[in-house]
Amino acid sequence: MLVTLRQILQEVSAAIHLDDVLSIVVQRVKEALSIDACAVYLTDVESQQYVLMAADGFRQASIGEVRIDRQEGLLGLVGECRELITVPDVAAHPRYHPSSATGEERYQSFLGVPLIDYQHVLGVLVAWKREPAQFDKDEVTFFLTIAAQLAKAIHQAAAVDEVARMLSGVQQGDAFIQGIQMAPGLAIGTAALLNPQARLESTPDRQTQDIDAEETAFRSAVAAVREELRAGSERLAADVPSEVRALFDVYAMLLGSEGLVSDALARIRAGNWAPGAWRDSIAHHAKVFEQLEDPYLRKGAEDIRTIGQRVHLQLQAEAEESRQYPQQCVLVGDTVSIVEISAVPMGQLAGIVCMHGSALSHTAVMARALGIPAVVSLAPMHIGRLDGCEMVIDGDQGRIYIEPSPVVVDAYQQLMGEQQARFERLAALRDLPAETPDGVRLPLYANAGLASDIVAAKDSGAEGIGLYRTEYCFLLREALPLEDEQYQIYREVLEDFTPSPVTLRTLDVGGDKILPYFHVQEDNPFLGCRGIRFSLDHPEIFLIQLRAMLRANAGLNNLQVLFPMISRVSELDEAMGLLACAYRKLLEEGLAAEKLCVGVMIEVPSSIFLADTLADRVDFFSIGTNDLTQYMLAVDRNNARVVTPYDSLHPSVLDAIHHVIKAAHRRGKPVSVCGEMAGDPAGAVLLLGMGVDALSMSPNSFAHVKLAIRSFTLQRARSLLDEALGMEDGFAIHRLLRGALEEGGV
Ligand code: PEP
Ligand code: MG
Repeated sequence: MLVTLRQILQEVSAAIHLDDVLSIVVQRVKEALSIDACAVYLTDVESQQYVLMAADGFRQASIGEVRIDRQEGLLGLVGECRELITVPDVAAHPRYHPSSATGEERYQSFLGVPLIDYQHVLGVLVAWKREPAQFDKDEVTFFLTIAAQLAKAIHQAAAVDEVARMLSGVQQGDAFIQGIQMAPGLAIGTAALLNPQARLESTPDRQTQDIDAEETAFRSAVAAVREELRAGSERLAADVPSEVRALFDVYAMLLGSEGLVSDALARIRAGNWAPGAWRDSIAHHAKVFEQLEDPYLRKGAEDIRTIGQRVHLQLQAEAEESRQYPQQCVLVGDTVSIVEISAVPMGQLAGIVCMHGSALSHTAVMARALGIPAVVSLAPMHIGRLDGCEMVIDGDQGRIYIEPSPVVVDAYQQLMGEQQARFERLAALRDLPAETPDGVRLPLYANAGLASDIVAAKDSGAEGIGLYRTEYCFLLREALPLEDEQYQIYREVLEDFTPSPVTLRTLDVGGDKILPYFHVQEDNPFLGCRGIRFSLDHPEIFLIQLRAMLRANAGLNNLQVLFPMISRVSELDEAMGLLACAYRKLLEEGLAAEKLCVGVMIEVPSSIFLADTLADRVDFFSIGTNDLTQYMLAVDRNNARVVTPYDSLHPSVLDAIHHVIKAAHRRGKPVSVCGEMAGDPAGAVLLLGMGVDALSMSPNSFAHVKLAIRSFTLQRARSLLDEALGMEDGFAIHRLLRGALEEGGV
């Protein structure tokens, strides 16, 4: 039974379209179990009915025709209860209303399981037996497992079909893919796929403009792989027997054979670009081998695919080097890293769409900082076909429109115009302080990490840098930046803002910020060697950074050093020890170095309970609500599936922040907040009520937060905070703040 189950699941996951998925399931399940009919009904949300989509053992004509109200019959009962229901003899059941169109009145025992994904009932999978009978334990388990997997496959296949309809223009009206917001804003642009051809099979077709250039690129990729094979074989000459090395010869022979290469060249000359032509040649030749009787010869297909992928990677590397991005570029990828964002020339990047990520990922942080709308698709799309498509990205509502209709484009152009006008109105606040009507002034600092952030920070009227993510400069390089290089970068930022404070956070790599040249393999990187742990594990890297910071501060004296991810007192002591050591050394070397302010980030739950002790040792706290929320609520900040539980306004998170601020203030130490909560007007008002001393945020959030602070007295913010802290869940707190902000005209 287990083997059959696995086979069915494999077939289901290989199917791309919804119809195929459903018919595989009903047929295979009916074959595998001793049942007489199996059927899938899917929910039609608009009509609130279940529609029969596939069946084996029902009247064929009923498929697609039979619709059952969601409250009706046994099907309705399964959906209502959201659980598996078995009825050994349906005649006796009060909810039994057979549909004569399907012919199910012939059957007497019923099994139904809801198909649930993301808590939504997508449909019901049912089985029938002709005679009254119990379903045995194995059958029930089998059914339950299939249903759980089927729900996922339906979700995925439905999305694929929807995207295909949008691409072909069949989709009517304003169809869009619902996703989640990563960074707000609106954009209209052209999709540019990241690694569009990572796998040869998913390489899109593309009409080539320059056949000769494609041919040359292809020939040089083939030559490079042949050279790679020759060198590989030679390298292993001393270590492996010649029979094994003969494998290299097989590959070289395949590449040397006229068939494969000339076939691809013919396809290029017919107008396809090299990767698309190569994909077709490989598929064609692999198929020829697959159809051979002899199992040994059949294995040749695998060799063809292997060599196909090698050449493909080579072509891809060449294409990346000369990559041109569209003018209004929407970067699309499974994930989009900050390095990939930075590769697009400034001014060309219009939007970002990815399949994985969330509003709290570092990609989102970066997108927000750049003012680029970004959305994570909740629908698992096959993105291979999106390259070059027109797209509308609605980062405010988390929506993606593919090949939008002129009506949609017009509507968004108008919205973009209105947003721009609002933005200009808010810009009038630029030179006004973030001061409450009763005279409480809250300094607003900028979060930064790139040179462009510094410009944006200045333009937005930031009173300093509250969080400078030094890791960005490490992530964007091909090797560790040395002391002088770091010194230059830090010095420029400090000079730009002197005498205002600049908080340089020491390296916070790990988690989703992996140094490309320093890969650490970890099963759970967010709980691994991250932040200060990495720095303490590598004092040789940490000391260089500390020296560069100290030198940059000489004569300016506006540096604040911030240690990330402190979870224990000893980590802080060790970091302080290394800082003191760097300071002493610089003095000994005769280099000017000033004493400076040192702070810790409060972003790991243990640090909340160490707040008093930590406050005794440092000059300030900076609360990182992004990680604090992630670690307190055990929700991955990058996982779109848990985006609802991820909530910085969760009462426990608010309570923790309040506790930390009170502890620091008892010791006379100031607290700023530099997580995304600070840039959210609702969060900012609550933090104001807690008595926070400063807020640090993406420059794009300044105007909105300033407006919020200028609209609430401290007393009103305090009473909202009291009300919020008395609430049981974050939803109520969000409602409370939404109401208050609306009332205040924010
Ligand atoms: C945070 O965790 O809130 C924070 C500001 O740090 P980062 O987002 O860089 O992890
Ligand atoms: Mg953090």
